[in-house]
Amino acid sequence: MIRLYVDAPLAAGTAIEATEGQAHYLGGVMRRAVGDSVHLFNGREGEWLGRIAHLSRGKATLAAENLVRPQSGDADLWLMFAVLKRDTTDLVVQKATELGVATLLPVFTERTNAGRVNLDRLRAIAIEAAEQSERLTIPEFRPARQLHDGLADWPADRALFVALERVDAQPLTPGSGPAGLLIGPEGGFGPRDHMALDRCRFVRPVSLGPRILRAETAAIVGLALLQAPG
Ligand code: SAM
Repeated sequence: MIRLYVDAPLAAGTAIEATEGQAHYLGGVMRRAVGDSVHLFNGREGEWLGRIAHLSRGKATLAAENLVRPQSGDADLWLMFAVLKRDTTDLVVQKATELGVATLLPVFTERTNAGRVNLDRLRAIAIEAAEQSERLTIPEFRPARQLHDGLADWPADRALFVALERVDAQPLTPGSGPAGLLIGPEGGFGPRDHMALDRCRFVRPVSLGPRILRAETAAIVGLALLQAPG
């Protein structure tokens, strides 16, 4: 079953204009035709069975029919991550979406090599991952900023588990209450990053084991550990 995220209200009988990309995907890639069914979700009103009401080159209209899955919430889990090389950042966003992260906060650290972040592109990756993983929501993206600015705005009542390699930190275990995970860049955190982190009372240094993981591996492992059933 094809699942599509739509940025429109969903109710029985609603007609929704698909994006050009969705129309191409339905007709050109998946070879669907008028009358074929699709599932639709908008992040707020659950998942709906719908049908293709109109399909032509670059255009499609979808008609919502009935609710098949009520809206449910995600874990209240945030991921702050040092911006990585483009493909690796894409991978982190895809996996974080699959793993249910509610809010993604890209940051520039002392040793970050990347210069800018294309949030539209990352959001498109997150939408595709949500469609594929049967998630009902799209994670929220915060604009990329310097680590110390991100820390300055971090809510005091939300624990921030900071993954630190080569230190004698507690192993990461499932948290209770609002939480976030911070993963460093390819080269690890620098001295100024560590000084900024040391000043924050909500920071909890954690280890992900004895081996040095690539940042993208560390993000996946950390998110899985934080949500492991008790
Ligand atoms: N260049 C660093 C070094 O060789 O010491 C390694 C940095 S690692 C590739 C990238 C990020 O993954 C780190 O900043 C940290 O957040 C996380 N990480 C990797 N392995 C980890 C481990 N065993 N425990 C905790 N965090 C880890």
